[in-house]
Amino acid sequence: MAEFDLVIAGGGPAGVMAGLLFARAGCKVVVLEKHADFFRDFRGDTVHPSTLELLRELGLLGEFLKRPHDEIRKLTARVADREIPIADLSHLPVATKFVALMPQWDFLDFLAQEASHYPTFALRMQAEVVDLLFDGDRIAGVGLKDGEEVRARLTIAADGRSSILREKAKLPKTDLGAPIDVLWFRLPKEKTPTNITGGTFGAGTFVVEIDRGDYWQCAYVVPKGAADDIRAAGLDKFRTDLARAAPELATVVGTLTDWDQVKLLSVSLDRLDRWWRPGLLAIGDAAHAMSPVGGVGINLAIQDAVAAANILAGPLAHGEDVDPLLAKVQQRRLFPTRVIQAAQKAVHDRVLTPLVVRKAVLSKVPWPLRLFELFPVLRRIPARLVGLGVRREHIHSPDAGLRQAEIPRPPRGSSRSPR
Ligand SMILES: Cc1cc2nc3c(=O)[nH]c(=O)nc-3n(C[C@H](O)[C@H](O)[C@H](O)COP(=O)(O)OP(=O)(O)OC[C@H]3O[C@@H](n4cnc5c(N)ncnc54)[C@H](O)[C@@H]3O)c2cc1C
Repeated sequence: MAEFDLVIAGGGPAGVMAGLLFARAGCKVVVLEKHADFFRDFRGDTVHPSTLELLRELGLLGEFLKRPHDEIRKLTARVADREIPIADLSHLPVATKFVALMPQWDFLDFLAQEASHYPTFALRMQAEVVDLLFDGDRIAGVGLKDGEEVRARLTIAADGRSSILREKAKLPKTDLGAPIDVLWFRLPKEKTPTNITGGTFGAGTFVVEIDRGDYWQCAYVVPKGAADDIRAAGLDKFRTDLARAAPELATVVGTLTDWDQVKLLSVSLDRLDRWWRPGLLAIGDAAHAMSPVGGVGINLAIQDAVAAANILAGPLAHGEDVDPLLAKVQQRRLFPTRVIQAAQKAVHDRVLTPLVVRKAVLSKVPWPLRLFELFPVLRRIPARLVGLGVRREHIHSPDAGLRQAEIPRPPRGSSRSPR
């Protein structure tokens, strides 16, 4: 007999949010995360207005916003020494008209702590999933690296863009291709009264600078596979190239003194043709690896978790067979995934490939950006796509009323608080 109603592989945004919602509906859930904590630098730190709305629907927004965060209300592109506003979130039809910038470990910590109020929720860290368990043709749970087996009536693969479970389940995949990788590092910054997150287009270069108060989180976009050559050319050359690519960083590039400060993040853009098979559902990047373009992957991952819970959590909690419902989750989420990935691919092909791969030189502001300058109303379009996405989900999954004010003691071998 299955020990759990649901086992979720992966404690990222998709996995932890799904864990929270299914436990809230009364399902016995375990989330398995391979790392010992959530402290990893390479996670996007954006919590979008659509996610903030979901937290509001769950009654958690006030508590969430008590955690230290920054707020992005506008996005700016720097091209040919000009600043072009490209997105204005102030017109979004939601209460929180900003992207909250919060280290993702804090966001995940918050969701995990909230989930821990439900006695049917367990989060296990350092639990690396390496295999699927089968009951005939049906998936019946997962096998861990240490040989332990975790059996469940439903398995969710939320193990990100290098998902092992989607491979083990032999779910067919379409690779949309990604011509870029990202070098990811921090540089010091003076605190400014408003958040000045933006991107700088240079001569064959593009640098995204995420304003984190007293430091810039920088994403230096490079052609796929070029990182080894960049490293081989030495740190001096990298600093010089970076200062040329983003002159506003010239005074601080000297703080990069070791390649250990610069992480390579491999970018992929792909999508499963089928997100499920009996007993298993893939969500988030495991179903559709997102490019960092637009900074929207977390949004999609969370929306997938909400849709999965809306469709499956009630029936699963009532002991019903949810296999016939798995396809509905893909049907619901395929359209927004396609739209956003098509937009990301268009930016890869039309902007980043000519600029970063073929080293085009932008001597003047390209006309699409000029339109944002001339017609401010157009800035609402990227704001809407980034802030709310396409086909926004709302919480419809049931609340079984099990929430306890005090966080129950964790069962042996589980860890609720990631810190
Ligand atoms: C360079 C870069 C920058 C990005 N910046 C942003 C941004 O600013 N904003 C944004 O919205 N999106 C951004 N994205 C996209 C975003 O990171 C993803 O779309 C999002 O994290 C997907 O969430 P997820 O929960 O599906 O997967 P993940 O966040 O990848 O989480 C998967 C989790 O599963 C765990 N795991 C993996 N394998 C196993 C296993 N075998 N067993 C147990 N656990 C496992 C991992 O440790 C991880 O915690 C960026 C992507 C890249 C590449």
